[in-house]
Amino acid sequence: QISPRTITARNAAFIGSEGGRQKLLTPALLVELDTLDANIANMQERCSKLGVDLRPHAKAHKTLGIAKRQLAAGAVGICVATPGEVEVFADGGITDILLTSTFAPGTTLDRLVEAANRCRLTLVLDNVDTAAALGQAAETRGITIRVLIDLDMGRHRSGLSEAKDLSALARIVDQADWLCLVGLQAYAGHLSHRPDIAGRMAGAEEAAVRIRKALDVIEPFIHGEKPVVSGGSTGAFLQETALGLYTEFQCGSYALMDAEYDVVDPDGSAKPLFPTSLFAAVRVISSNHPGIATTDGGEKRFVAKHGTAPVIRRGGRPGATYKPTSDEHGTVTLADDEIMPVGSLLELQVPHCDPTVNLYDFIHVVRDDILLDIWPIDARGA
Ligand code: PLP
Ligand code: MN
Repeated sequence: QISPRTITARNAAFIGSEGGRQKLLTPALLVELDTLDANIANMQERCSKLGVDLRPHAKAHKTLGIAKRQLAAGAVGICVATPGEVEVFADGGITDILLTSTFAPGTTLDRLVEAANRCRLTLVLDNVDTAAALGQAAETRGITIRVLIDLDMGRHRSGLSEAKDLSALARIVDQADWLCLVGLQAYAGHLSHRPDIAGRMAGAEEAAVRIRKALDVIEPFIHGEKPVVSGGSTGAFLQETALGLYTEFQCGSYALMDAEYDVVDPDGSAKPLFPTSLFAAVRVISSNHPGIATTDGGEKRFVAKHGTAPVIRRGGRPGATYKPTSDEHGTVTLADDEIMPVGSLLELQVPHCDPTVNLYDFIHVVRDDILLDIWPIDARGA
C-alpha cells in the first residue's frame, strides 16, 4: 500500500480576486490564458489549412487542462512521451493517444496494453521482439493496438533506417492479428532548434528522402490505406510542412514556448510565430547589496537544454539579468547601484518549457491582474 500524495493548490485563495497575480506564493508557474489560446488556435489553423492533422505533444505541458483546449480547437488526439503519461491522460479522459517513444517488453508493455482498454492507443515500434511480444499481449487481451514504425532520422535515438529492417518489422506487425500497422513516425528532432533557416530546409529535404524510401518499403503492409506520417517540431514545422509528406504534426512547445525557442527564427522575420504564454513568477527575498537581488527561484525551478538563462519579462529593471545560482535561490544582477526591494515580483520566461513544467505541481492561469484558475500539472513526474 502506497500512501496517497496529497498536494493542495496553496494559491487557491487568490482565484478571482483583483491583483491575485501579484499575491501568489512563489515560485509559481503562470500561463497567460489568452496567449495560450491564441497559440493553440494559430497552430490548429495552420495545420487545417495544409490539410494536416494536428496531434500536439502533451509532454510539453503534462496538463489535462491544456490538452483539452487543444482537442476542443480541433486536434485529432495527443502525443505523449512516456508510458506514465499514457496512463495519466487516458485516466483523465483523453481518448486518442500516441506514445512517441519506444518501450521495453515486460511490465511496461503489459501496462500499455491495459491502457489501450481506456483509449485508442497508437504505439511506436523499432524492434521485432517487442513487436512480437506486443502482438501476443494484444491478442491475449483481445485489444486492438495501432502501430507506427519508428524511422531513424539520423540521430540514432530510436528507430530503424535500413529497408530490410523496416520490412522485417512491418511483416511481424502485419502478421499479428491484433496489431494494426498505420504508418511511420518520422520525428526529426535534430532540426527543431537549428538556427539557420537554410540549414533547416536542407535537413528537412534530407528527411524527405528518408521518409519516401521508408514509405515504399512499408506501403505493401498497409493494404491500400493512406499511411500516416507523424512528426514535426515547433522549430522546423514550416520547413517540414513544405515537404508535403507529413500527415500528422506532433509539435508541442508552440502552446507555451520558452527562451530557447524564442530565438529560433521561424521564417526569416526574426519574430516567433508563437509568443510565450508560460512564465515563472519569483520574488526577491534578500536585497542587501546594490546591484544584486536574491530571489526564491533557484536551480530546482528551471531546466535549460542549451545553457540558456531564464529571461526577465516583467518586474525587472532595464538591463537586469537573471541566473539560478543555488538550489533554491536565484540572482538578479542589476546596474551598479540599483536596488530591488525585498518582495519585488519578477516574471521570467523559462529556458526550456517541457522539463521545467515537470518541476511544478500547478500552473496558474492568468489574464491581466487576475488569477483565473489553477490547473494541476497532472502528469508531473509520470
Ligand atoms: N515529437 C517528438 C517525438 C518529440 O520528442 C518532440 C519534442 O522533443 C516533439 C514531437 C515536439 O517538439 P516541439 O516541442 O519542439 O514542438
Ligand atoms: Mn523540448
